Amino acid sequence: MDDRQRLRYSRHLLLNEFGEEAQERLLRAHALVIGAGGLGSAALMYLAASGVGRITVCDGDRVELTNLQRQIVHRTSSVGEPKAASAAETLRQLNPDIRIEALEERASPERLGFLVRGADVVLDCSDNFATRHALNRACVAERKPLVSGAGIRFDGQVAVFDLRHEDAPCYNCLFADDTVEAEERCATMGVFAPLVGIIGTFQALEAIKLVAGVGETLAGRLMLFDALASGWHEVRLSRDTQCRVCGSKRAAA
Ligand SMILES: [Zn+2]
Repeated sequence: MDDRQRLRYSRHLLLNEFGEEAQERLLRAHALVIGAGGLGSAALMYLAASGVGRITVCDGDRVELTNLQRQIVHRTSSVGEPKAASAAETLRQLNPDIRIEALEERASPERLGFLVRGADVVLDCSDNFATRHALNRACVAERKPLVSGAGIRFDGQVAVFDLRHEDAPCYNCLFADDTVEAEERCATMGVFAPLVGIIGTFQALEAIKLVAGVGETLAGRLMLFDALASGWHEVRLSRDTQCRVCGSKRAAA
């Protein structure tokens, strides 16, 4: 770190539990963020401001006027632009110190596998089950920590699957991809703006702790947030030994 960086990150360096070594680890880290919507907006801003040295943001959509109520990484002037490029522009202005890669695409499962392989931590800020499950499969295969978030109406949830560890549950242990669940989308259900900010910020917090090696992460727990009642609820997660994604792979290993 040079003197300017020491100044920029001084409030991290002042923390006994964080300090210079953790900040150095952060500056060397590569975070992959899938989705630059409401969750991704908050997560990306905190990852960039905190000094995660390399951030890849992947989103195939374009900014729409209806996004701006909650997707704070985008600007009114960005309507019509690809979300990945719009987010990257905001992040570069926020912190020119770090490397931002914008991928204007809806990544296929094969592509996700490639992207996950190069990352130290993965944030699922997507809005559909197909992407969530494909990303989980890639993280299980590559044994990368996955920070999963979701938010709809007034309900949010966040979980960490630290798949670097043999006995860690995966996303599919919790929400199996063969269960028939109605896809709930913001477009039809509505979403309370600060909710996705809270959940996305929580995802950034967990991702930073994972790569900086600070504190105890949320691994093995699911936090549910009710924004109307302002209440948190915690659920302990355990591995499903019959899980079709992580169970067979580990039995075979
Ligand atoms: Zn599993």
